[in-house]
Amino acid sequence: MMAFTHALVGALLAAPVVALAPEFAVPAAAAGIVGGLLPDLDLFVGRHRRTLHFPVLGWALALPAIGVAAVAPTTATVAAAVGSASFALHAGTDALGAGDEIRPWERTSAEAVFDHRRGRWIAPRYWIRYDGAPEDVVATAALAAPIVAFYPAPLPAIAAACVALGVAYAVVRRRLPPVVEELVG
Ligand SMILES: [Zn+2]
Repeated sequence: MMAFTHALVGALLAAPVVALAPEFAVPAAAAGIVGGLLPDLDLFVGRHRRTLHFPVLGWALALPAIGVAAVAPTTATVAAAVGSASFALHAGTDALGAGDEIRPWERTSAEAVFDHRRGRWIAPRYWIRYDGAPEDVVATAALAAPIVAFYPAPLPAIAAACVALGVAYAVVRRRLPPVVEELVG
């Protein structure tokens, strides 16, 4: 899945906050976006889909954080709850896409995301065949719709920007591998 899809999943996790405690809506959605983007920093440091991806153990952090926010809702506790849930969910949803490879449509990698608890890789499910696939754009638009409709500013604008950037990424996605190989050498 694209970074934009992960960001919008994170923002959408703030939906209960938008409905029940709108005073925390903006920081909660912002934390969801950050939590959804954070795992892929391991593209640059460590091993991608492993160093900062915790599909199972991430919930050991997120579930207590959600409990704390439910009992004692403040800007900090609510943001921590949504952010940590988004961080865990990012790794889990990576299993629904392709493996970790430069041309994921070739399906040569069986490594979608690392399960630190079992100490082994989870195989890709290909519900979304690769990041930037047409169905990835559809998912991005579908996730953005309720944010555009119901969230306070500036989140509708951010969600719309994610869709626009996602479309642009999808258009060039299959031309990126040679460029990346050129840059990396
Ligand atoms: Zn990821």
